[in-house]
Amino acid sequence: MEGVSQLVSKMNFAIEEGVEFSDAHCHLDLFSDPERVASEARKGNVGIIITAGSNAESNLRNFRLAKGGVYGVVGLSPDFASSDSAQIEHLAGFLKTNRNIIGIGEIGLDATIISEVEMDAQIRAFEAQLDLAVDLHVPVVVHARKMIGEVIRILKEKSIENAVFHYFEGGEEEARTVEKEGWLVSVPPVDSSRRRRALREIGIESIVAETDSPAVGKTPLDVIKVVSDIAVLKGVSTEETGAETTKTIKEYFYI
Ligand SMILES: [Zn+2]
Repeated sequence: MEGVSQLVSKMNFAIEEGVEFSDAHCHLDLFSDPERVASEARKGNVGIIITAGSNAESNLRNFRLAKGGVYGVVGLSPDFASSDSAQIEHLAGFLKTNRNIIGIGEIGLDATIISEVEMDAQIRAFEAQLDLAVDLHVPVVVHARKMIGEVIRILKEKSIENAVFHYFEGGEEEARTVEKEGWLVSVPPVDSSRRRRALREIGIESIVAETDSPAVGKTPLDVIKVVSDIAVLKGVSTEETGAETTKTIKEYFYI
């Protein structure tokens, strides 16, 4: 695993001492040594990591990892969709017993897996978890794959105030809607011209950065590169963007 100095030299710019970065979405529990990955990130100025669960086992693992600068969201993702009340109650238990569990996620709809999990079942699970988020007044982290229009419609219907669009893949119109509703666009490490166009439509206050690690070989430290790409797009410094996205996350999740 490379340290921050190698990473920074690879990125070819220096990070000012003391600037804090935040990874808005990863799956820390899927690393073989999550505690070490978290401490490496902290040493590299990634002070806040939000790790997301997707099923009963990963929720429990993330619940245990959520301490210090590591925060967790717990949920049943579309591939593990369930609206079973015992499972939903279980999520509530996690939220009530660890102050570092700060929201429900990742939850949502995924059109690419409907051969395995029917869309009706996905919608029922999504709605049940949104109801829980409303009851507990906590933010949600949503997964919207090829279903962003429907996810937006349901979030509006449920009057959800705080939602983070993990791995945002919408276009310009959806980005404007997300901003107008007071939700957040979370930018992954994978660049696309469609996403760049969408990001140009909205203010930096509506944007956060994520790695979705360990997907595509990333770690939470790689969020600094995502932040620097956003900074270039917005014509501001990497430091400012790091500070701004961290402030947004702290306010949004009441950290
Ligand atoms: Zn994820």
